[in-house]
Amino acid sequence: MKRIKKGESSKDMKNLNRLLVLKLLCTEGKIKRSEIMNKTSLSKMTATNIAEDLMGACLIKETAVEEGAKGAGRRPTALTLSEKSPIVGGIYVGRKSCSVLFCDLCANKISEERREYKEINSAEDLVLFITELFSCVKSKIDREILCVGISAPGPLDRNKGIILSPSNFFGINNLNIKEILENKLKLPCVLAHDTACAAQGELLYGKGKGMDSFLLVHLHNGIGSGIIVKGQLFDGAMGLGGELGHISIDHKGEKCSCGGRGCLENYANEMNLTADYNSISEEKLDNTSLKEIIKKVNEGDKAALFALDNFLNYLSAALVSALNFIDTHHIVLSYHGENGLIEKMLEEKINSSLFAGKYRKIKVISSAFKGDAPIIGAAAAAAEEVFTGNIKITEEW
Ligand SMILES: [Zn+2]
Repeated sequence: MKRIKKGESSKDMKNLNRLLVLKLLCTEGKIKRSEIMNKTSLSKMTATNIAEDLMGACLIKETAVEEGAKGAGRRPTALTLSEKSPIVGGIYVGRKSCSVLFCDLCANKISEERREYKEINSAEDLVLFITELFSCVKSKIDREILCVGISAPGPLDRNKGIILSPSNFFGINNLNIKEILENKLKLPCVLAHDTACAAQGELLYGKGKGMDSFLLVHLHNGIGSGIIVKGQLFDGAMGLGGELGHISIDHKGEKCSCGGRGCLENYANEMNLTADYNSISEEKLDNTSLKEIIKKVNEGDKAALFALDNFLNYLSAALVSALNFIDTHHIVLSYHGENGLIEKMLEEKINSSLFAGKYRKIKVISSAFKGDAPIIGAAAAAAEEVFTGNIKITEEW
């Protein structure tokens, strides 16, 4: 499972080129032979040989470009993943539920299930819950599994595969989830922060495809982000980066569970959305969600608009700080709820108070996967292990 170092030998270079072509094909879904040369700068002979190698290993197959194309001569064909190609798994250890997903290297879903947690009081309960769900979903498929990505809340140590001590999370402290699941599932696993995974998924298969840099912002049971710089995930030395919810917007503010003061999550949260709504509405809600507030705003509810506007004021304050620090022009938003409204409101707020705002304009776009970005991202983290050569795709390569 060693990373291949560039330029070590012609055999390694051949493997790198194969993975380069495979990644291109998997992120595009389908690719013509001529596009391989244009997009990778490989020679015609190398591209042809690699296509033959990948077909010989039953990883890819030829497919028609246009169904029913007329005219004499050979019908144009493209290359796509074979139905026999090995697949990857993803586990999203959420705060209230766990999801398991199996998909091919193009992120086409093969099997998926989400279950709400029940009677979880310890790390052992959580591990048992995850392994039972994993086995149940795995029993429905009959494909070779290369790697499993685990997407979990922070703080965590990505290098050691440990979930450290997330607040209000079953009292978990230093849980070596990677090692435990590798032993139980008998499969290689990789751990990453849920929002880093979401950004990885967006980069490989979603709206981030081809983008040089962007900030993915995930709004669900807290606020987190994933940072893409120069076409690569940047999650820091340990994988702790991207904690947007713990950027302080008031150094004299309330004490946060993380130890800091005035963290964004203490202001932009469902409790405050509900309180703001109830403060001017005749209808009083016990508890509301961002999804419900967006729905109410779209129906013309003024109290919901007031609550949402406050929420986005807090969020944009933290985002302006983040964007002044990381100069990117794109924010990709993932959340459960109808798209469009909050992207537009947030874009206006950010652009009105951005440093050097005269010279740049930030675009806020919706994630291709809505609120499911962290589970797609878990599988994407596993796929990235294959594309980088950390996990071997065949016996020989
Ligand atoms: Zn905090």
